[in-house]
Amino acid sequence: MITDFDLIIIGGGINGAGIARDAAERGMRVCLLEQGDLCNGTTRWSSRLIHGGLRYLEHAELGLVYESLHERETLLRIAPHLVQPLKLLIPIYKSGRRSKFLIAVGMGLYDLLSIGKSLPNHKMLDAREALEELPALNHHGLAGAATYFDAQVTFAERLVVENALAAREAGAQIRTYSRVDQILSSNRLIGGVRYTDLRSDRQYDLSAPVVVNAAGPWVDRVLEKMSQPPRRFMGGTKGTHIVVPRFPGQPKVACYLEAESDGRPFFILPWNNMLLIGTTDIRFDGNPGEVCTEEAEISYLLSETNRVFPDAKLDKKSIHFHYTGVRPLPRKEKKAEGDITRRHIIKHHRRNAKGFYSVIGGKLTTYRNLAEEVTDRVVRRLKHHGAKCQTARQPLPGAAVKISWVVDQLDNCDYISPESRVHLLNVYGSRALLIRDLVKKNPRLGDEICPHSHAIAAEIIFVYEHEMPTTLADVLLRRTMIGLSPDQGRAALPKALDIARHHIGWSAARADEEERRYLREIGRLMC
Ligand SMILES: Cc1cc2nc3c(=O)[nH]c(=O)nc-3n(C[C@H](O)[C@H](O)[C@H](O)COP(=O)(O)OP(=O)(O)OC[C@H]3O[C@@H](n4cnc5c(N)ncnc54)[C@H](O)[C@@H]3O)c2cc1C
Repeated sequence: MITDFDLIIIGGGINGAGIARDAAERGMRVCLLEQGDLCNGTTRWSSRLIHGGLRYLEHAELGLVYESLHERETLLRIAPHLVQPLKLLIPIYKSGRRSKFLIAVGMGLYDLLSIGKSLPNHKMLDAREALEELPALNHHGLAGAATYFDAQVTFAERLVVENALAAREAGAQIRTYSRVDQILSSNRLIGGVRYTDLRSDRQYDLSAPVVVNAAGPWVDRVLEKMSQPPRRFMGGTKGTHIVVPRFPGQPKVACYLEAESDGRPFFILPWNNMLLIGTTDIRFDGNPGEVCTEEAEISYLLSETNRVFPDAKLDKKSIHFHYTGVRPLPRKEKKAEGDITRRHIIKHHRRNAKGFYSVIGGKLTTYRNLAEEVTDRVVRRLKHHGAKCQTARQPLPGAAVKISWVVDQLDNCDYISPESRVHLLNVYGSRALLIRDLVKKNPRLGDEICPHSHAIAAEIIFVYEHEMPTTLADVLLRRTMIGLSPDQGRAALPKALDIARHHIGWSAARADEEERRYLREIGRLMC
């Protein structure tokens, strides 16, 4: 039977985009449907760590830690402009629930499981050495510290966008603002999906012999769109982060801490010239699109940070913005939130709709491996004889050429300030050269439009033409990263709208409407 596609993917978060890339590069006809913009779900609300997950050692999840540590190495290689090494310090207090000995054993195991890595091994420090490393640390009862390396993806949004770009480059269709409303099946065989294009409010049917539900915490909601929905699989927990300015004596390295009030681990991470502090872990059963930050979560993060860094003196007014997301975890009603596995499960709904798969759980860190596993299953189901998986070796689009060469090329462009060059490299990697080309043609496009991120005018035009955004929020929050500035891009708004009007052709009415929608969207991130 002739179908529209070989594979339809529901969800444009990191997992959906990763699967789309892998499957398209292996020669399949792929369509990805996302109800909002790319990276509009959990991926955006994560701690942005590419890590082995030291904590999972306590749950004896050695396989998960091993997989994560090896994926960390892969991502450092295929996306060096987005994923960077991060030094972390664990202060150890005499009153802590985890002893220095236990932490040393854990760190040794972490090193063992990441054998062959490019990052340095851990070090154990005594209290004096710990204070030398981090003088602002609360010294009362300090027994020492451990330092080790993991990695950070400052702009997880870009990791998703670049996977989607690679997928499109390989022939995939990426349809954003396309909400799947119905799973089509007959005789217990998947047939395709019915979706609404939310821009035109029109419904369409698409056919494919395989459909993958990569809707993150919405997985059960998508399953409800089957004629005979299966039992529920998801049991999410929500997690909140706050973003604050650097404070006196702020940690230069990232800190991995134990909360005094409940013994839970949390992070203070240098991030985007600010500090990202999180997270909480609370059961959540509602609509993931409506999850919000609670006062108690903010107080918890502020007071635990002030306890370890007494000079920080953070309060609610210090917060630039906050965000909350729902972890797409497998349903485990009896387990404590922190004990639920972070492993992923690929569920084949063979009883109700053969050829229909759901991705349950997983981490940002392991998305590439998850995508490879899912695509292998699709290959077997379709008996597709295409190319082998290349994603562990093939760099993402922004790492197509060596970054040192890109730096040299950008240095030759006088129209772009040194600060803006750094921003371009961190956001677009080697694709920054395409933006430089726009500036060469029209030097005024090298003007800085955001005093915080140092983004330039040319970026608005570039991402609009090449990176599939629809709204101003897509451009500012999930492409140029202007919206992740301390003011969430407010200072850049007039110039961004001016460029959209004069270079992209937005009418005055459209610009006004986009501005209103943008302010509403970032309003959710404010206290
Ligand atoms: C607080 C927190 C901290 C975390 N920190 C880390 C970390 O530091 N490191 C790490 O490795 N992992 C971390 N994670 C886990 C990680 O973020 C997630 O596992 C991962 O991002 C899930 O990606 P996803 O693509 O499956 O889901 P999502 O990113 O949620 O994407 C699913 C997409 O499906 C779309 N969708 C839903 N329904 C439909 C429909 N009907 N039609 C079309 N599209 C639909 C949604 O709009 C959404 O964009 C964290 C998670 C949380 C919540």
